[in-house]
Amino acid sequence: MSDDFIAFAPPDIGDQEVAAVVDALRSGWVTRGPRCAQFEEAAQALVQAPAALAVNSGTAAMHLALEAAGIGPGDEVIVPAMTFCSTALVVEHVRATPVLVDVEVDTLNIDPTAVERAITPKTRAIMPVHFAGHPVDLDAIHALAQAHGLLVLEDAAHAIGAAWRGAPIGSGPNPVAFSFYATKNLCTGEGGLLTGSDELVARARLLSLHGMDRDAWRRYERGGRWRYDVAASGWKYNMTDIQAALGLVQLERFEQMQAARRTVVSWYRERLAGAATGDLLSLPSERPDVIHAWHLFVIQLNLAALKIDRDAVIEQMSAAGIGTSVHFIPLHQHSHFRDTHGWQASDVPVCEVAADRVLSLPLHPRLQENQVDRVCDALLDILERGRR
Ligand SMILES: *Cc1c(COP(=O)(O)O)cnc(C)c1O
Repeated sequence: MSDDFIAFAPPDIGDQEVAAVVDALRSGWVTRGPRCAQFEEAAQALVQAPAALAVNSGTAAMHLALEAAGIGPGDEVIVPAMTFCSTALVVEHVRATPVLVDVEVDTLNIDPTAVERAITPKTRAIMPVHFAGHPVDLDAIHALAQAHGLLVLEDAAHAIGAAWRGAPIGSGPNPVAFSFYATKNLCTGEGGLLTGSDELVARARLLSLHGMDRDAWRRYERGGRWRYDVAASGWKYNMTDIQAALGLVQLERFEQMQAARRTVVSWYRERLAGAATGDLLSLPSERPDVIHAWHLFVIQLNLAALKIDRDAVIEQMSAAGIGTSVHFIPLHQHSHFRDTHGWQASDVPVCEVAADRVLSLPLHPRLQENQVDRVCDALLDILERGRR
């Protein structure tokens, strides 16, 4: 990597985060401790959640939610094709069956009409993914869920800070899973958060630490009780105070980081508007009535106008010193899901077309205007030269 390489999404970690982690290390609490509790409280306040549990990944948060809701063998859970593998893998973890549905052409979010067609007597849950940070049409999803008695488990790995019709993602009583993985809008290295009703979060809390009862993590404190009961068959999914220390600083800086992301997005929109109207690419949509979290800036290439494919564009961007990515290789294109569930491209035609066109451009709070210029100049040059 040369010095002037523009990275796709490096974590925005500064001296404050470093100092907070060092403090945590010096405090003696390196596993779940007081900082985790503080982080939960602060994250709960940010998304206005009824209750919140900090865990070690977004995937763990989703798995716990399905377990806590009692979803298991014989149950079907509806998932969108355009997502990360773990949205479907957690359904397999509980021995339920993931059911693949297509996405909307503009937002690439789960298509409520496709969800409706996929509902059977065995359906127990819908897992909408707020793709790139653009909220799913939750009114439509909740209406279907209510009509059919289904759980809505939101995969909000991209969506901390997002809102649907004024309601922050995570503010409802249904389970919502956030990820604080290295590339996400808020980073704890690895980490996640589950929000939802008091009852659901309490059950998930028990399951997140082996099934040991509530205060077991305090057993080594002065006056802590050594006796605990294992009350359920749980997992080892707790967050650590080292991660929470990092997360607490990130929460303090969150609004400023999100504002920086929105500025970057406005630069991209300005510089790429001509190519969008010139029909070389389309820009990400942003519906009225949403707050977009802008985790990703995903453009779609108009392949009909080009004699090169998306992968060639990625290679040429890389040669120009610019990191890009693809979100996502859709579920049905992975061998495991194809082999296990027989999923095919023809099941999800909208997703299949988008999958060859999507390209995620660098987006992070420290990206500078002259770097966005470089990204756009390189991209437009590649596309103009690749014009059919
Ligand atoms: C990152 C991501 C996850 C998984 O989050 P982890 O914290 O890495 O487990 C789940 N779903 C989507 C859509 C993601 O992008």
